Formats: sequence, C-alpha cells, structure tokens
Amino acid sequence: MGICNDQDVTVRQVEIMSDNIKDRVCLVTGASRGIGKAVALHLAQHGGIVYGTATTDDGADKISSMFDFETLKGTGRVLDVRDQDSIVNLIDAINKESEAPLILVNNAGVTRDNLLVRMKDDEWNDLIEVNLTSMFRTARAVLRGMMKARFGRIVNISSIIGAIGNPGQSNYAAAKAGIIGFTKALAREAAPRGITVNAIAPGFINTDMTSVLSEKQSSEMLAHVPLNRLGEPDDIAQAVIFLVGNSGDYITGQTLHVNGGMYMP
Ligand code: NAP
Repeated sequence: MGICNDQDVTVRQVEIMSDNIKDRVCLVTGASRGIGKAVALHLAQHGGIVYGTATTDDGADKISSMFDFETLKGTGRVLDVRDQDSIVNLIDAINKESEAPLILVNNAGVTRDNLLVRMKDDEWNDLIEVNLTSMFRTARAVLRGMMKARFGRIVNISSIIGAIGNPGQSNYAAAKAGIIGFTKALAREAAPRGITVNAIAPGFINTDMTSVLSEKQSSEMLAHVPLNRLGEPDDIAQAVIFLVGNSGDYITGQTLHVNGGMYMP
C-alpha cells in the first residue's frame, strides 16, 4: 500500500471529526446572530440536522433561509428560553419531525448591565432566567432522548466574565459562573449514559453583544488580549465542533476558555 498524500489525510480527518455529528439532530439556542449562528452553520457543515432558534418568526425564517442558501440540513424555530412550555413543545415537535436531539448547544444569552446598587430585581431575575435557568430547562428536556440513545453532547456557553468578573455585570457574572458549576454536576450525572457536558467561556467576541462598546473601551480591552484581536464567532464555533466531534469523546465537565489569552486559568 502506498503512503497517503496530504489531501487523503485531510479528507480522512474531516470524516473522523464529523462522525459524532453527521445525521445527528442538533439544537442550538440563539442561532439568529453572532456565536449561535456560526455554531449552527458549522454543525450543519459537519453533516448535522440543525434546529436553530430565534425569538421572532422573522429571525426563525432567516435561519431557515440561511440553511437553504447553503444547501445544508437545518431549520429555524421560534423559542423564548424563558418559557418552559415553549421549550417542551419545541423538543416534542423535533422528536416527532426528526429524531431526538443528541447535540445541544445552550447559547442564548443577554446582558442587563448595571452597578449593583442600582440594579433592579427585574434586571437580576431576567438575566438569570435567560442565561442560566434556561440551560437547566433545555438540558432536562433533551436528556431523556440522550439517555435512551446512550449518547449525547451538551455544550453550555459561559463567559470569561464568569471567571474574572466585571464591574456592572454582577448578574451576568453570577449566571456565567453558575453555568460552570451546573456543567460539572450534570457531567457527573450524565457520564454513565455516554453523555458529555462541557462549557465554553468566550472572551470578547465580535458580535452585536460587544458592538455596544465604545472605541475607547474596545482598545482598552484589546490591550489585555495577547493575541491582539477580538475573537470571531467562528473561533467559538470551532471549539464547539472540537467538543461535540469525536475529538471531544473523552472530555467532560470542562470549561474551554477561548479568549486570545486574555485570561489563563
Ligand atoms: P448576540 O449576538 O446578542 O445574540 C444573542 C442570541 O440569543 C440571539 O440569537 C437572540 O435571539 C438569543 N436570545 C436572546 N434572548 C433570548 C431568549 N429569551 N430566548 C431565546 N433566545 C434568546 O450574542 P452573542 O454575542 O452571539 O452571544 C451568544 C452567547 O455567548 C451568549 O450566551 C453570551 O452571553 C455568550 N458570550 C458572548 C461573548 C461576546 O463577547 N459576544 C463573550 C462571552 C460569552 P434574537 O436574535 O431573536 O434576539
């Protein structure tokens, strides 16, 4: 037998990596923009059947159009992660229409910044509901299917802020740190059924969420990033693929920091 050339090796590597994802039903919350959109696209490019969610009909339609345009298997759905019934209904609908989602990326998130002394109960409660409680609800809704399949991959999107804190973001930091503890506990619970649960903690990523920063704030922040650039949504999507693909088969309960070196735990 001859020695493989470089191209053979590349093709084989992509095939190996796609094994876990190909033809599997994936659910990505908050896929209308930013990180979630990139994650949904990457999963579909690796052969996944992707359900991506938005909070509006228009957003869901745009997700469906994105998959159609790229001739990938995927569709957009409306979901408000604050609404327990809408989570259960969506998972039921996916189960009926395709198969149980075996890959879940809990990505939907918001910020409600304020200094603690001025923070209103709503700003605290709403943020915890969207960024943390939602993860408990979506994971609970998909776990039965994963347990039956004796396979599952859950990735929860945390944040560097959950590890280092930030003034004006006590609610966000609490939710994002909570995600890390939640991830570890669920990883221990689900491991005997072949389900891995990991978190990704992005640094500052170029999305709508960070577009509100002034030029001065951005350049001050960049001074703390050894790689000297903002991250791109694709940087996070590639980390998701690493964790849910075969490359992540022996990784669970971990938090992968993807931040250009801004924080080194
Ligand atoms: P983004 O561009 O603002 O997008 C947020 C996504 O979440 C949108 O798809 C949005 O849907 C969805 N969403 C918001 N509220 C929701 C709700 N109640 N129910 C369901 N979906 C909801 O944000 P991003 O920057 O891509 O951030 C994605 C995740 O990464 C978040 O969890 C964020 O905390 C985390 N993160 C981001 C950064 C960063 O620098 N960007 C850094 C660390 C962590 P609609 O479009 O319908 O509103």
